[in-house]
Amino acid sequence: MSNKRFTLALHGGAGAKRSHDYSVEIAHMRGLIEAGRERLAAGAAALDVVVETVAALEASGLYIAGKGASPNADGEYELDASLMDGATSRAGSVAALQGFASPIRAARAVMDQTPHVMLAGEGAMAFARAQGLETISDPEGYYTRAGAFEDNAPPGGLPTGTVGCVALDQDGRLAAATSTAGVFGKLPGRVGDSPIIGAGAWADGWAAVSCTGQGEYFIRTAVGAQIAHRIRFGGQGLDEAAAGAIQGVADLGGHGGLVSVDRDGNVAMPFASSGLKRAALMPDGSILAEAF
Ligand code: ASP
Repeated sequence: MSNKRFTLALHGGAGAKRSHDYSVEIAHMRGLIEAGRERLAAGAAALDVVVETVAALEASGLYIAGKGASPNADGEYELDASLMDGATSRAGSVAALQGFASPIRAARAVMDQTPHVMLAGEGAMAFARAQGLETISDPEGYYTRAGAFEDNAPPGGLPTGTVGCVALDQDGRLAAATSTAGVFGKLPGRVGDSPIIGAGAWADGWAAVSCTGQGEYFIRTAVGAQIAHRIRFGGQGLDEAAAGAIQGVADLGGHGGLVSVDRDGNVAMPFASSGLKRAALMPDGSILAEAF
């Protein structure tokens, strides 16, 4: 049976250690693809599916985003997230957010409730508080530091971990969402690609992309928008476009990966890193879930 009318893909971050057993994460990711497939089959909007899927990834504590966050060099938890609705080109983003359980819900509120795309730091926190979003009173007791054991960066790189989801719904709408605690040991105030629209997340009428890896390289090569523009203006297929963008990151010395879908329901999930925790509803109807 073909599932080309709708599809979704997600990731739990670039980097995986071969000596570690990821069966819990793989089963979790597979379950989220099944849940997303059910919602899309029932007519849900791609935007709602990517937000709910990323919120579930955040809440699991299994990945370095939301509950699974790791601290920055000062021991503070500063989280970033963004989303984009390809049907309307609307977007929302938060950066250096502290004290909230779901950065992706804060990013959604920025998109839905303000004329802005991005709120950062104190302003983002005041906004999230005013929205009544769930707060965290005891950061040390709450965060699980998932994957802190994963020394998953190549020499000279920073270990990474992030979550993200992309989807195409039955009405042909594409959407992307990404959420992270950023690279391990980052400087206070450092903002990576995950909350940067066009870099760590992008959706338009051609493709939806969510990235993970050392964000500096994804910002410098505008990976998310680049993939959609390779398709739209360069006539490339999704596989070629996604592989080309990841190659650009690698050429600069960066590492990472991404999940992407196009408006025809194709899926591409390339990486140039030590593995990528990823799962997708494939065009033939099967579910792929793996850590390498
Ligand atoms: N891209 C994220 C960042 O640079 C980290 C990651 O994907 O693990 O903040």
